[in-house]
Amino acid sequence: MPTPYRKRIAKLQRLLRERNLDSLLVTSPANWFYLTGFTGEAGLLLVEPRAATLLTDGRFTVQAKEEAPTLRVLLQKDGLYRTCGETLRHRRLRKVGFASDELTVAQLGAIQKAAGSGVRFEPAPKLVQGLRTEKEASELVQMRKAAILASDAVEGAIALLKPGVREFEVAAEIEYQMRKQGASGPAFETIVAFAERAALPHARPTAKRLKRGHLVVLDLGAILNKYCSDITRTVFVGKAPAKVKAWYQAVLEAQAAAIDKVGAGRTCGEVDAAARGVLAAHRLDQYFVHSTGHGLGLEVHEDPRVAKGQKTLLASGNVITIEPGVYVPGVGGIRIEDDVVVGKSGSEVLTRASRDFIEL
Ligand code: ZN
Ligand code: ZN
Repeated sequence: MPTPYRKRIAKLQRLLRERNLDSLLVTSPANWFYLTGFTGEAGLLLVEPRAATLLTDGRFTVQAKEEAPTLRVLLQKDGLYRTCGETLRHRRLRKVGFASDELTVAQLGAIQKAAGSGVRFEPAPKLVQGLRTEKEASELVQMRKAAILASDAVEGAIALLKPGVREFEVAAEIEYQMRKQGASGPAFETIVAFAERAALPHARPTAKRLKRGHLVVLDLGAILNKYCSDITRTVFVGKAPAKVKAWYQAVLEAQAAAIDKVGAGRTCGEVDAAARGVLAAHRLDQYFVHSTGHGLGLEVHEDPRVAKGQKTLLASGNVITIEPGVYVPGVGGIRIEDDVVVGKSGSEVLTRASRDFIEL
């Protein structure tokens, strides 16, 4: 197996030995891609302390050979989970870890039935996700590119914000432009929210038309070479009321305070508290209805969570978003989001669109 996969598998195998697990069932595509480079959507990776086997079906054998040439591939017969259970039995693996948040009860039941009574299953969630939080230099190269692509897309979208345009038109254009620049797709459903719809942190684009006097929230991300980016900008169409400007400055200040706190050895809760504290000083904390950020990588929402009271320590190589916001029901919302790499001391912001308040 070519690097970096050999190294990553070796790290995971060390964890298995520490936990006295004979095997771990790797059941999410992002996790088996991280460990092997196999990009197929269907399968299961069985990792043992000294071996790794990919179970998949006939649609993916050629692909698996190409993407992971030295990986042992086993073709499933009579269903993936049954094959998995039979393999566990034949290889006499006694203690098997699985991710309880990835397998359904029915899937686990099928594995257990085929494995027989000699195999003990033990929840071992997030072992691979834990490894994924500390990005390698080669991953950071990809994440920088994905962040720049999304930054360019957000700037292009701002140029499209003319009265009369519809939310879904802007969203479609954003996704088209990202694909034209090489993205395999959006990292999540692009958010384009006008006026009172901007008060919904997860608004889906509708047929609503843009008017003067509207706040606009654009939240988008690209998947480029498997890695995700995530950026939000908020602009005003027309001359903004003083109140809106003040909200914007408060959110910007909150974001800067949180980014300033980012560094190895800080807790996620400290970073969240920095943003929340600034908004509280502006008496806006009751309008900040979500957490400050989330991990980012092969998936758009990963560990660590940057939320209130989170004790998780940030480590060098973590990539997180910092995205405070204020949402005033019936009026609108303001969110500013950037992607940040945790450094040994301090941080590096990957996204690069201007954060100055823009009145169009
Ligand atoms: Zn976002
Ligand atoms: Zn986000």
